Amino acid sequence: MAEIVRRKKVCVIGAGAAGLCAARHFAPNLNFELKVFEQTNDIGGTWVYKEATEVDENGLPVHSSMYRDLRTNLPAKIMNFPDYQRLNAVEPCCVSHQEVRSYLQNYADHFDLFKYIQFGTRIESVRLQVSAEGEEEWAVRTKIMKTKEEKEIIFNVIMICNGHYFDPYMPKIPGIEKFPGMIVHSHSYRKPEDFSGKSVLILGAAASGVDIALDLANHAIRIYLSHNNERLNGSLPSNIIEVLGVEKIEEGKIFLKDQSSVTVDVFMFCTGYRYSFPFLDENCGIRVDDNFITPLYKHLINIDHPTMCIVGVPTVVVPFPMFHMQYFLALLEKRASLPTKLTMLENSKLKTSKKRHAHKLMDKQWDYNNSLADAGGFDRLPKFYKLGYEAWSAQRKANLLNYKRARFVISEDEESVELIIPK
Ligand code: FAD
Repeated sequence: MAEIVRRKKVCVIGAGAAGLCAARHFAPNLNFELKVFEQTNDIGGTWVYKEATEVDENGLPVHSSMYRDLRTNLPAKIMNFPDYQRLNAVEPCCVSHQEVRSYLQNYADHFDLFKYIQFGTRIESVRLQVSAEGEEEWAVRTKIMKTKEEKEIIFNVIMICNGHYFDPYMPKIPGIEKFPGMIVHSHSYRKPEDFSGKSVLILGAAASGVDIALDLANHAIRIYLSHNNERLNGSLPSNIIEVLGVEKIEEGKIFLKDQSSVTVDVFMFCTGYRYSFPFLDENCGIRVDDNFITPLYKHLINIDHPTMCIVGVPTVVVPFPMFHMQYFLALLEKRASLPTKLTMLENSKLKTSKKRHAHKLMDKQWDYNNSLADAGGFDRLPKFYKLGYEAWSAQRKANLLNYKRARFVISEDEESVELIIPK
């Protein structure tokens, strides 16, 4: 008699790039039955620009942090999913957010993913329970935003793809409550005209802080870029002034770490985001402490309940190809060879001096991606991703004003890359 195979029910939370990549990998596998829930009415997550900053068309807090004139801060050629190479700009190699959004739409079309996605449906809660057969399963409460109808559905596997750039992190600044001007986080930044004729202090000089400072330069009268990192190169526009970090605010003045002070109209936090999983019940066992998520094996698998994965946790990485690599390990049937719980816990220990940086990979991302491929028995990423990223990072450091206009050329054998900055 033929054996009846019970297909495992997979719930994907979110239809951004990570959720689409999850769907692309689970959908063709006959061992799984797939459902993707998306709270908005679109695919693309971060890449869906919204003029509104407060609530969206479904009455939910706006998810996307996209601003109107953003061009990618990575060359399009290394942003590609390795199995679908179409975001192939040559010059300039950084593309607009609209182009990335349509790339994701084409990806979803190509792999026929729309039929798995239920739009306008928010995941309200995820709770662990044990089935009559003694197996762990997930009780997922969904809410259709239009009708407010709620339902509980049982799944065997949960892929959390809810994004990590929607819950603003704002460090405590003594006296900020008395700041007389406007306070804003980069999550709500949309366009430079809103700051015409104003002076702005931007706190934080990571990707968004620097990018927004440059975006503002033709509109704001003065921009103080406040940070304690290595100084940027000298080619910034003259109205962007690098200053040290902020100590406190007193009598309307912002005091910096060197005791000097500045006065501005706008205080803008470009201080990043918090990992946030508001729908997870405590019994799922996931904890976030100062942005360190535990217990996760390879920043991905819930060690206590390995049928749950959180996708896209590592930061300062090239995200799309990394999502792709994460599925090699996340696909359940490939995980029979997961190490023992003890080994996984050992692997998940904090390896950085600050918890906040626990998931920051930077140069370590390539070894990380390789380790995922090796564990799943799949091909590693082609070399040009790493070479391109390294050439790119060096170019960004040396040529902050023009690096986004570079031509990016990958040799035919994909063994080398060249970045050519136009005159
Ligand atoms: P998201 O795109 O955030 O998607 C998450 C999805 O989950 C959303 O659609 C959301 O509505 C949905 N969701 C959330 N909660 C629920 C719920 N409870 N129920 C149902 N649905 C839910 N990356 C690059 O590669 N290159 C760049 O140049 C680049 N620039 C960036 C610039 C900015 C300003 C930001 C914020 C990010 C940038 N990134 C860039 C990183 C970007 O976040 C990733 O490329 C990628 O889009 C992340 O995809 P994601 O699916 O993890 O998250």
